[in-house]
Amino acid sequence: MTAPYQRILVAIDCSDESADILCRAAGVLEGNATGELHLIHVIEPLALAYGADVPMDVTDLQSGLVKQARETALEYARQYQIGEDRIHVELGSIEKTIVDKADALGVDLIVVGSHTRSGLALLLGSTARGLVPGAHCDVLAVKVQRKDKKSD
Ligand code: AMP
Repeated sequence: MTAPYQRILVAIDCSDESADILCRAAGVLEGNATGELHLIHVIEPLALAYGADVPMDVTDLQSGLVKQARETALEYARQYQIGEDRIHVELGSIEKTIVDKADALGVDLIVVGSHTRSGLALLLGSTARGLVPGAHCDVLAVKVQRKDKKSD
């Protein structure tokens, strides 16, 4: 029999659906007093997100986004007694940053939301699908309905 999951990394985009994803992840650790939940939110650097050099200094803007995202992540974390040291707000490309953090923390499960897609969006693929090839642990995709974002 395989061992129960012990350390889980939950990827949140800080939208309202994050609560549903966290609830699922917490459910996986139910009854496991030594299990650990970690939260990650990734901010894509502006130049990366726009695919070109941004002709201005965006350092202040980026640190404002990081601060705001951390506060939102903290609100979610409080509901599940997740300590500040288990909240990770990182700059980078979303899938790679999540996989790298999962490796660094030695997690055995990544939990991520997954929106149902149709039409052209199908071609773009989902975050969950993008994670699977590079991940060295299991990936749980929680089906979610699109809701409004709280930050960035
Ligand atoms: P998708 O089906 O591609 O829209 O994936 C949405 C899910 O990907 C969210 O519910 C999160 O779990 C994850 N995700 C999307 N953006 C981010 C982000 N910036 N940081 C962390 N996780 C994210």
